[in-house]
Amino acid sequence: MSSSWRNIPIPDCVARLPCNSAGRPVPANVTWREPDDDGSIPVDRDPELGAHVTCPCTPGRGKPWFGEQCPVRQRQFMLQRQCGLCTEPIAPSAQLMFIGETNAPYYLEPPLHQACAAYALQVCPVLHVSGERIEVALTASYTLGEDRITGVAADGALRRSVFPLGFPPAYHLAVLEFYLAFPATPERHAAPTWLAQYAPKQLPAPTD
Ligand SMILES: [Zn+2]
Ligand SMILES: [Zn+2]
Repeated sequence: MSSSWRNIPIPDCVARLPCNSAGRPVPANVTWREPDDDGSIPVDRDPELGAHVTCPCTPGRGKPWFGEQCPVRQRQFMLQRQCGLCTEPIAPSAQLMFIGETNAPYYLEPPLHQACAAYALQVCPVLHVSGERIEVALTASYTLGEDRITGVAADGALRRSVFPLGFPPAYHLAVLEFYLAFPATPERHAAPTWLAQYAPKQLPAPTD
């Protein structure tokens, strides 16, 4: 990736995020690891969630672990309709956006403001190179399911199942890690197509 991402106008709410060592803002749903982190996955239990994965990380402390979501913040953003990039609430009247693969039935990444989605599509190296294979889904609302860990396979891989939100029989059988967002009647577009229509209206043209 060239240095051109620095020329993309940054929304104010994103400019307040902690940055990685290259100066790139770190999405709020990303896990941070401090030097003494041994990579273990702490599990807690309470009446509200049953067994669930916790996480002690603090944004800005240690190093961001791109590609790994903090389960605590992921669940908070999903439940509270907060933007997974900038953390700010998304107005109930606003159309929100999910980014994922073509025709994804549900999303593991929290919703985004449209301006934040436009910024992420232009700046995030993974999204940028994925081009047409990335789709955006615009929707007014979504419902949640639970992604729970049900066991460990012989090769060490975690077995997972999707459960309805707040389904007590799952509380003892499986460990809640993430919420899954199922968008209501989404309007889907290939990411580059949506960006070409949306970004010029919202963002000043790059200066170079
Ligand atoms: Zn965390
Ligand atoms: Zn945002």
